[in-house]
Amino acid sequence: MTTTLEVSDADVVYGRVHALRRLSFTVGEGEIVCLLGNNGAGKSTTMNMLSGLVRPRSGSVTWQGMDLATAKPWDIVTAGLIHVPEGRRIFSTMTVHENLLLGGYTVRDQKAIASRLDEVYAMMPRLAERRAQQGGTLSGGEQQMVAIGRALVGGPKLLLLDEPSMGLAPLVVKQVMEIIAAVNAAGTTVLLVEQNARAALKIAHRAYVVETGSATLEGPAADLAKDPRVIEAYLGG
Ligand code: ATP
Repeated sequence: MTTTLEVSDADVVYGRVHALRRLSFTVGEGEIVCLLGNNGAGKSTTMNMLSGLVRPRSGSVTWQGMDLATAKPWDIVTAGLIHVPEGRRIFSTMTVHENLLLGGYTVRDQKAIASRLDEVYAMMPRLAERRAQQGGTLSGGEQQMVAIGRALVGGPKLLLLDEPSMGLAPLVVKQVMEIIAAVNAAGTTVLLVEQNARAALKIAHRAYVVETGSATLEGPAADLAKDPRVIEAYLGG
């Protein structure tokens, strides 16, 4: 497996808060890798660092040979590293279709946008039924689908998903995880950040446990799901 993303000894500091402390992990081409961690562990900071929104004070962050520690956010997105932020952030007064179209903002090829929209609607028929509905009137699960669909219209090579299960009922979490697995099966590499370890470990190939800004455990997802430390801390004993 070829490593596509490599984070090595990254530190991020906000004033007095040391959010990432020598964080290291890798993502291989075609994988779903999950970062598990509780509130404040540094998961969103990691995603924001990969998108160029916050900068590491030290360490290295490279993806496909691109230095993400210095690259501009626009160039990172255009190269295909697309971030679905925590809390979905879809536009509530725009329709589903308009929200999805926004994902093509950085894409010049109109035919590519049209065919990706078709793929999104085929993968998530619920969105096709609701294409004219306003974003703000969708259920939480539907809003998460729009957020993922919007990212797919941008043609991601590496998709960053920040807590896609947040606030969703268990059945809806399962549906969202199935969509993520399908996106990966269709060829997109995924970095998934989750507090819901149970759901995430079912679809991830590998996972890292992140605690106070450092990776403290790593391994194949199936092994971590059986690890007593993970069961105790993240799978409810
Ligand atoms: P959550 O699941 O609650 O979002 P997280 O694992 O994503 O948690 P981060 O949001 O990355 O964690 O936060 C890591 C630490 O950095 C926390 O202590 C947080 O308070 C702090 N932090 C995050 N953003 C900022 C900021 N802009 N300014 C100052 N401190 C921040």
